[in-house]
Amino acid sequence: MNTVSAAAIPRSSSEIAVTNPATQQVIGTVPVAGAQQVAEAVARARAAQVRWAATPIKDRVAVLKRFQKLLCEQQDKVAEVVTREAGKPVAEALSTEVLVVLDGIKFLVDNAPEFLLPERVPHANPIMKLKQGTLLRQPYGVIGIISPWNYPFSLPSVQTLTALITGNAVVLKPSEFTPFSSLELQRLLREAGLDPELMQIVTGEGATGGALLDSNIDKLIFTGSVATGKKVAIAAAARLLPVVLELGGKDPMIVLEDADVDVASSAAVWGAFMNSGQTCLSVERCYVHESIYEPFLQACVAKTAKLKQGNGSDPSTDIGPMIHERQLRTVQNHVDDAIANGARLLAGGKAATQLGPCFFAPTILADVTHSMSVMREETFGPVLPVCSFRSEEQAIAMANDSEFGLAASVWTRNRSRGEIVADRINAGTVMVNDVIACFGISEAPHGGVKASGIGRTHGTFGLEEMVWPKYVDSDLLPRMKKLWWYGYGPTFRHQMTGFMNLLFAPHLTKKLSGALKSTQSFLKRRPL
Ligand code: NAD
Repeated sequence: MNTVSAAAIPRSSSEIAVTNPATQQVIGTVPVAGAQQVAEAVARARAAQVRWAATPIKDRVAVLKRFQKLLCEQQDKVAEVVTREAGKPVAEALSTEVLVVLDGIKFLVDNAPEFLLPERVPHANPIMKLKQGTLLRQPYGVIGIISPWNYPFSLPSVQTLTALITGNAVVLKPSEFTPFSSLELQRLLREAGLDPELMQIVTGEGATGGALLDSNIDKLIFTGSVATGKKVAIAAAARLLPVVLELGGKDPMIVLEDADVDVASSAAVWGAFMNSGQTCLSVERCYVHESIYEPFLQACVAKTAKLKQGNGSDPSTDIGPMIHERQLRTVQNHVDDAIANGARLLAGGKAATQLGPCFFAPTILADVTHSMSVMREETFGPVLPVCSFRSEEQAIAMANDSEFGLAASVWTRNRSRGEIVADRINAGTVMVNDVIACFGISEAPHGGVKASGIGRTHGTFGLEEMVWPKYVDSDLLPRMKKLWWYGYGPTFRHQMTGFMNLLFAPHLTKKLSGALKSTQSFLKRRPL
């Protein structure tokens, strides 16, 4: 990767110049794949997948283990690539990208072999006991993956590795802003001995993603905004392509009156500002009980004042840049709208232009309301909007008053109370006394409800998304004609009513007469 001035490499229709958002330097270029190249990548992946699916699971596991070893050895190198193109502090590149993938591999190698074993399906119905059912989990074939820029290594890696271990091939379209993290994934997989055809990368912008969607893939895992997700869903529906949609969030944080203010305020500051607020699971709305509202706000302001903003590659940096200026403008609009409508600005509120064009100062807004865009739309920037509530009921109602439903958090010293509140919140994940960390729990399913998406990644649910269930049923008496075959007539009817009463009639006498009826007819009737 060569580093040259942004002006030196013009963006052309056939290549994309990738810039470091902290320095605005061009880090390198990648080609734009057209429909033909995407189709060819999918065809190569498809040919390789047939061999891969027939490869014993222990050999697939071995590739993942070698990948894990290489990633562990090269963690700093990978983290640097992530920081250079996504801007996040190198500490976050290690903890929220590399570590998540290393742990994700452990989950996959520990669980996938058993998950893929044929599963016996017992039959309760006595008539069906003369059959044996087995559930097989079959790989889809070629999984298309379209990724965003905010977690450019962990998101495509966990999805790719889950697809591979279950016997699929992958064609990945990374974000145009962060393709080099995906290229690191591909490089390490190849070093680990994976057939290069099994994992293909097609770089480009939305059009390349569209070409992947239109190609001969068997399933698509899309992660990105709600707006693009809706377009993807429409295109996928037209060809009945199964999709997982991991979309945006507007995660609420409810701080109950018995919460530890010091702990909860630290969590709010980290949850709203880490990765410069560009996390699908960021704290985007904060509701604090009125009895602790002012001390909570004061603690957040004091902690925010201690954060250092700058280039993510400097180890002392807490908050890096945002990805691009367009994202910064959305944030400024939300902040301006809130202030114009009566919110109190307690910190930040504007771009930190002295650091570069992509930095936005960590911002705290108090007294926000649900009529403001900062509480309704995904802000995706370093903004912590806070308002107070009177009762638990009111807090739950406000948390649920959103088109999104990705995750949420509840803060209380009483864990069982927290879990009761969690049960009433409409979100894919609710954490009690933590935020965002659910993404690092490899066993936990990740995904949302409402506009936050469809389907899940991570954990066993993530494995299930990569396979289709095939039910195989094998008759134990192959020489016997089945009772329900032709040769109907009054005896069959007699037999059926008797049988149903035997199984389901509420009274014993009716059950017994049902048993008698069905046995008599069984002896009398011969199917055709
Ligand atoms: P985006 O929707 O702009 O782009 C996502 C990907 O889709 C990119 O690779 C882009 O090139 C591609 N794309 C764009 N138009 C396309 C089209 N018409 N057809 C196919 N592909 C197309 O999102 P973004 O700005 O890269 O990412 C930020 C968003 O992602 C936020 O809303 C965030 O909440 C969400 N996100 C969700 C999760 C999750 O797990 N739920 C995780 C990370 C990010």
